[in-house]
Amino acid sequence: MTSQCLFCRIAAGEIPSTEVYSNPRVYAFRDINPAAPQHILVIPRKHLHSLNAAAPEDQALLGELLTSAREIAHQQGFAEDGYRVVINTGDMGGQTVFHIHVHVLSGRHLNWPPG
Ligand code: AMP
Ligand code: ZN
Repeated sequence: MTSQCLFCRIAAGEIPSTEVYSNPRVYAFRDINPAAPQHILVIPRKHLHSLNAAAPEDQALLGELLTSAREIAHQQGFAEDGYRVVINTGDMGGQTVFHIHVHVLSGRHLNWPPG
């Protein structure tokens, strides 16, 4: 827990969010400024600044972020329609919150390449 980190505080329940999924290692909630009808953020409870900060010991946790995204897609009912999973990393990657998070987007046709 990094007390100044927005997503650490959300995972700890100190800042309100709309929970979608939770387990002892992972928390998922609705993006406050959705870019699609379904826009969910999946985060580890452990603070990792970005994908760049992930170490070999974090391999299982990184995998669990993806299996959680899959679980959420099924639970929310958009797995079959399709969805996109994104990890913005660093300034040029468009990262604005420096606690690693997986965007899960669905509910409309998503363009490629992204802007
Ligand atoms: P990124 O630009 O990849 O770092 O994504 C950060 C995301 O966090 C953006 O899509 C924001 O809309 C979202 N966000 C920022 N603050 C909150 C919050 N308090 N609750 C939910 N989502 C948030
Ligand atoms: Zn954090």
